Amino acid sequence: MTLLLTTSDVARIVAASGLPNLLRRLADAIEADMRRWPEFDKSARTASHSPCGVIELMPVADATHYAFKYVNGHPGNTALGLPTVMAFGALADVATGAPLLLAELTLATALRTAATSALAARILARRDARTMALIGNGAQSEFQALAFHHLLGIDEIRLYDPDPAATARLRRHLGAAAPAIRLRDCGSAAEASVGADIVTTITADKRRAVVVAPEMLEPGMHLNAVGGDCPGKTELHPAVLAAARVFVEYEPQTRIEGELQQMPAEFAVTELWQVLSGAAPGRASASEVTLFDSVGFALEDFSTLRLLLAAARELALGQEIDLTARPQDPKNLFGLLCGTMMRDSAVREPGPGPRLLSA
Ligand code: NAD
Repeated sequence: MTLLLTTSDVARIVAASGLPNLLRRLADAIEADMRRWPEFDKSARTASHSPCGVIELMPVADATHYAFKYVNGHPGNTALGLPTVMAFGALADVATGAPLLLAELTLATALRTAATSALAARILARRDARTMALIGNGAQSEFQALAFHHLLGIDEIRLYDPDPAATARLRRHLGAAAPAIRLRDCGSAAEASVGADIVTTITADKRRAVVVAPEMLEPGMHLNAVGGDCPGKTELHPAVLAAARVFVEYEPQTRIEGELQQMPAEFAVTELWQVLSGAAPGRASASEVTLFDSVGFALEDFSTLRLLLAAARELALGQEIDLTARPQDPKNLFGLLCGTMMRDSAVREPGPGPRLLSA
């Protein structure tokens, strides 16, 4: 049997753990897995593009577990009453291939993306960082704000989104969830960035946008660029990358999808795992500009799926489903049809039952 975790199961796991604690556990799990990077079988995700968006499959495995996520990105969806990003995923046992878990990952993607952003900022932002600009106030934004507040101690956030209703919703939620954060509405991304220690861009627009221009950079800033995650969909002016030290999740994927797609192949970047494992330095000085070019890598979902499975078992949440056929005699797959077909055909046509089918 496979454990099914629905959206309400994931919400109950978050409630049972408490959001700050769950974000911490996720960041720790992702860090632990990134530290053993060479143990993973990795590849850039496969993407199916359309004029409206993208649908992606993200696989990764170690010697014990195989995971994949299905995720879309459709910036026009909110006008249709649908989220921009929707996801689900599975975790399987490598020894047998048996699927252990099928889980909603839309909420979980927002959680793991925020945890990864905070994890990157923990090693790249200045230690005295307290102020963040949050540009793009959509579905992901509460998660980002709360991760930076609880995991990094950010206590002032400047908000900007061209949609005032989005900023109002974010302000309402943050006011209730973390009243200690000082919030300031801003009229532009440039205004939000003035004096900010960290600038998070998490906008959705399927084009080469310039949300952060080079004149907005200040010495010592850390940029957490999350919304540019697809070919032709970027948020930073290329001169911003040229002025920063750039850190990525998995270079072969980020070269295709990240802000990095705007730079020549020889432009040097560092993978996060190298810093986490001590193989490469993080921030070199208080005045350096650092940039996490986030696109979302399968390993973060692997860590999340494992954490969800452990938490669901602990809390006795979820439902065991027969997602894949498991006949008692593994060679008698056809036998699983017999009972059902005989029963259904007996309902449809009274009289002699089917003679051909017997288990
Ligand atoms: P959303 O549609 O709910 O919100 C996006 C917001 O960006 C909207 O409120 C929109 O008004 C705003 N926006 C658009 N252009 C803007 C601009 N120029 N300046 C300021 N705000 C602007 O989308 P979401 O679910 O919050 O996702 C945001 C982005 O993050 C998407 O592009 C998504 O693909 C990306 N994402 C990345 C990762 C990752 O791991 N890197 C994970 C999840 C989502």
